[in-house]
Amino acid sequence: MRIGAHVDRQDPLAAAAERKAEVVQFFLSDPQAWVDPEERSDAAALKASDVDVFVHAPYRINVATTNNRIRIPSRKLLFTYATGAATVGAKGLIVHGGHVDKPDDIGKGIDNWRKTFVYAQENGGFATPVLIENTAGGDNACARRFDNLARLWDAIGEYNPGFCLDTCHAHAGGENLLGIVDRVKAITGRIDLIHANDSRDAFDSHRDRHDNIGNGQIDPDLIVAVIQAAGAPVVVETPGGAEGQGGDIAFLRDRVG
Ligand SMILES: [Zn+2]
Repeated sequence: MRIGAHVDRQDPLAAAAERKAEVVQFFLSDPQAWVDPEERSDAAALKASDVDVFVHAPYRINVATTNNRIRIPSRKLLFTYATGAATVGAKGLIVHGGHVDKPDDIGKGIDNWRKTFVYAQENGGFATPVLIENTAGGDNACARRFDNLARLWDAIGEYNPGFCLDTCHAHAGGENLLGIVDRVKAITGRIDLIHANDSRDAFDSHRDRHDNIGNGQIDPDLIVAVIQAAGAPVVVETPGGAEGQGGDIAFLRDRVG
């Protein structure tokens, strides 16, 4: 099982070495802004590296929303990000499932996801596989509760999207981690990446605050069991820099076996 961390985009390979990570995930630009991926001087090194690379899309992206002024730039930036992610040899581009604002129908959000894949296909396809991540909050979220996730996959499954399962988001979003891998795979057929995070908040709190494994409200044994069942690469998105994340990686590596 390959295990690593979400790191600062300044020098991901150095950050990986510091943490003894076999996987790195990072942003290609300011995650809070609407800006295209930056060109990277270490692109060839990342591509050639033994470290598996994943790229996370900016937080503002919401391809599901009915708000044109967010949906259209989201769709374009996701496509541009997939192209940028390919230059660093990324195995996947992680993007949150998104949501529609009340009282909009979730069906519209799901159809907007379908249109996102249609748009990508008309432009030659995503250059990097898109992995849709479950989220912690939002009543009208596409990938928080699995009833909506099933509707989403009915609409976009033909485009072979990937899936990223975040343990903190599932717990805070109100999906029990016990047996979750089977429940996800029954819908998506796959899990491409695990975000192994503890949660500072209670089950179904809708709050998205990650914690180091064993420090929060999730039983660490459950996180280990999810990783073992999924058999997918693992990224911790936990606090504490090299020390905190390195500790989480060492703990998981020891426990997962
Ligand atoms: Zn995550």
